[in-house]
Amino acid sequence: MNDLFSCFDHESDYPDLDICGAAERLSRAIQCKTVSDCADPAPFDALHDLMRSCYPAVMAAGHFQTVGRSVLITVPGTQKALPPALFMAHQDVVPVVEGTENDWTWPAFSGAVEDGYIWGRGTLDIKEMVFGELEAAEYLLAHGKRPVRTVILAFGEDEETFNRGSKALSDLLKSYGTRLAFVLDEGGGGIDDGALFGAPGVNIASVDLMEKGYADLRLSVRSRGGHSSRPWGGTSLGNLSRAIAAVVDHPFPARLPDIVKAQLKSLQPYISEEPLRSLAADVDANADAIAAYCLQNRDLFNLVITTIAPTVINGSSKAPNVMPQNMDAVINFRLAEGHTPEQVMTHCRQVIKDAGLTLAEDDPESGVSLSFDQANPPSAMARCDGYGYAKVVEAMQYYYKDIVFYPACSGGATDAHNYEQICDTCLRRSPFLSPAEDEGGVHGTNERITIRSYAQGIRTLIRLMDATCF
Ligand SMILES: [Zn+2]
Repeated sequence: MNDLFSCFDHESDYPDLDICGAAERLSRAIQCKTVSDCADPAPFDALHDLMRSCYPAVMAAGHFQTVGRSVLITVPGTQKALPPALFMAHQDVVPVVEGTENDWTWPAFSGAVEDGYIWGRGTLDIKEMVFGELEAAEYLLAHGKRPVRTVILAFGEDEETFNRGSKALSDLLKSYGTRLAFVLDEGGGGIDDGALFGAPGVNIASVDLMEKGYADLRLSVRSRGGHSSRPWGGTSLGNLSRAIAAVVDHPFPARLPDIVKAQLKSLQPYISEEPLRSLAADVDANADAIAAYCLQNRDLFNLVITTIAPTVINGSSKAPNVMPQNMDAVINFRLAEGHTPEQVMTHCRQVIKDAGLTLAEDDPESGVSLSFDQANPPSAMARCDGYGYAKVVEAMQYYYKDIVFYPACSGGATDAHNYEQICDTCLRRSPFLSPAEDEGGVHGTNERITIRSYAQGIRTLIRLMDATCF
């Protein structure tokens, strides 16, 4: 949408909220260069010191602990029977692309507060959520409130790379026997026009309930190569290409996943255009027709299918008259709800065999071998019929008017899935909404957040925490 700020509502709430101070504290957080894979622990130590020194009420009421570089802050509630609510985000940021350092208006780790923005790597992904959650908890506690429900703040250290920090925090909570009421993590996109779902003119924003699965399948063919005048049995390039083609030519059947059903049911009152208007009137009965419709649409097809994308090929010959030797390729799959990596493997082996090719276990010399470089099944689907989802949407709608929030599936992976073992409502929805600009976005040059967006996200978190925990 063009004017994001026109949907901001109730900006005069919490008039004593120290917005300048909050911007200053986020600025200092940006100055800690917590790049995911940095060997030096000092930036993370500095960030932890900042948390401890800037939020005295949180530190007094809560227990601060680190697991590796990850942080867990527990503010105990008075009613022990209530399951805790967990507010999370990650401390790490992606590096600045080499050679682009001088393209930044303000240096990437300066945390400059200028022109109504806080500038720097991590202002959108996602230190504003780390520090926004601390600001919200501090505000409530400093006003003398005491939580009835335990509030947990959990900040992983490596979301951009391995997601191990959040797993360690989740394992620790699991070892305590903790079950969570809900989890709030980053995610959800900006605000979109509902036209894609037959609801033009309606502003929609997603609350992501799950993530598709992810698998990189490596296909390898061995060959000694040789003179191209004697390609007996075909070349490794020819056989590898046939194997890739066999997989691509045999897509998985489309099916309307439960997440898309939930999405359409939630948007149904706003859908005005055919054919979705009629189809969405009874999503369950029309599931197959809706899946078929989505499959024909370049923006919707990936919702209803496990996608197949050959992305890498290595080892071709450098000369036209020399046969290639060993070659390999990677096909990337995004697994739809209900598919497992094992099913993908079984399917690929079968279609390659059906294409008349030999697998390596039958012919180690020249057969096609298949293995996963990495493979994760789809995440579980968070509940959207319960307490956590209702409360998150309520708080979002209060501060962002005329936007329809709806359940959806995330394109990428976040830390949130690591908490599924102790929570059935892991929600991915950042309360910070920023205007879409030509540059300055997530992972981009001149990443920056408007102070107005930062403040509004903090208000949303205060209201949500207050309503659910205090
Ligand atoms: Zn992130």
